[in-house]
Amino acid sequence: MKNNLTIYNTLTRKKELFEPLNPPFVGMYVCGPTVYGDSHLGHARPAITFDVLFRYLKYVGYKVRYVRNITDVGHLVNDADAGEDKIAKKAKLDQVEPMEIVQKYTNSYHKNMEQLNTLPPSIEPHASAHIIEQAEMVEEILKNGFAYEVNGSVYFDVAKYSETNNYGKLSGRVLEDLQNNTRILAGQSDKKNSFDFALWKKAEPEHIMRWPSKWSDGFPGWHLECSVMSTKYLGDKFDIHGGGLDLQFPHHECEIAQSKAAKGEDAVKYWMHNNLITIDGQKMSKSLNNFIMLDEMFSGKHKLLEQAYGPMIVRFFILQAHYRSTLDFSNKALQASEKGYKRLMDAVKTLSNLKISSLSSVNVQDIKEKIFKALDDDMNTPILIAHLFDGVKIINSINAGKETINKEDLSFLQKLYNDIVFEILGLENEEKSSSEDEKLKDVMNLLLNLRTEAKKNKDFATSDKIRDELKELGIIVKDTREGAEWKIQ
Ligand code: ZN
Repeated sequence: MKNNLTIYNTLTRKKELFEPLNPPFVGMYVCGPTVYGDSHLGHARPAITFDVLFRYLKYVGYKVRYVRNITDVGHLVNDADAGEDKIAKKAKLDQVEPMEIVQKYTNSYHKNMEQLNTLPPSIEPHASAHIIEQAEMVEEILKNGFAYEVNGSVYFDVAKYSETNNYGKLSGRVLEDLQNNTRILAGQSDKKNSFDFALWKKAEPEHIMRWPSKWSDGFPGWHLECSVMSTKYLGDKFDIHGGGLDLQFPHHECEIAQSKAAKGEDAVKYWMHNNLITIDGQKMSKSLNNFIMLDEMFSGKHKLLEQAYGPMIVRFFILQAHYRSTLDFSNKALQASEKGYKRLMDAVKTLSNLKISSLSSVNVQDIKEKIFKALDDDMNTPILIAHLFDGVKIINSINAGKETINKEDLSFLQKLYNDIVFEILGLENEEKSSSEDEKLKDVMNLLLNLRTEAKKNKDFATSDKIRDELKELGIIVKDTREGAEWKIQ
């Protein structure tokens, strides 16, 4: 199997030719969500980035096992080793079982991912279903001398590990700096050093998510689940580990240390990180109140949004930036993407109806080469899309009779656009959503006709009820001389 794909390996800080360990098999692990709330834009980017990689590797012919986890235990508030579990906190707030929270937000994550047309992973393991395996890895690390137990909790001994290994090799952090930065916290915990991290935590009496172990009734540290579940399903050494840049440190750095300490060798060949999303130039944060949920994006119901942006607009927008660049969401940029997306879809439609000539005046081979060159260059989707638009110009010129294409070249170009646009970039054409729009219009006409009838019969209670309940759904009805108009707020 031949591929020319190069990917930027965060570990070596270089673009490397992708050479799987056991072709034709490829193992890919991506850190999934912690399911304690609805999915936001920050969830969309890694899902789409690694979806394109998954699709492309399969397109090339590899047999890819894509594992993406669900974090449902051990991720504490503030990402540190103290405080409440994020799931348990939300469960208390909503007065439900923690696993109800997990189920609810796993379902909504799946719904959003399907809307964004990301393919489901091959395996989606839950951390809470791998407590035994996590305890086993804690034991291995203890046995190898890279962890210590204090008062029922087990911590990774970063200083000990650093004597023979390079803790910080992924993120570029330096141990001395970490020590200086975190010294203030020393003395507040059982840790030998503030940069040590929990492998197993003894549960406080009020902590509801707990499992028995030889050390204490407790729960695993957050970083452990990914070391355990990646190697359980992909083997002690596997090809690709991905995730958002925010996970590089400490989460992935700790994963490297745990796997090495347990098994004696690095588990991952290529580390890949997608960059983060900003909103109007600012980092998404709770305090700035600029977290935009995917449902809000798709419905337009968020104070920062001028309109709704459908899942394919969001997907196309994300692909218009390189995954290692930051990506800024603004209404202006999204509206530009919407136009571009429509232009591309129109061209795909035009392509299926082009007239053929006996001779071609265009070079279709050249378009294909440029497109795949961009894709192979560390998944450079913005350049790829620019070449797709060069092709769109050519398609439109042929359609206008300014250029000609023969039968063979036309089917070549049709296959190319079909493969790239739908199969690899994972876009869908909007026909599905436009037929839904049509249905909505029909339903609204039906409702407004009922309302007019009610008014005629002087049944104002019913006519007001229809208007008020539509308003609650975000649909504003305005009476006009001709009847009524409506719009989505
Ligand atoms: Zn992870």
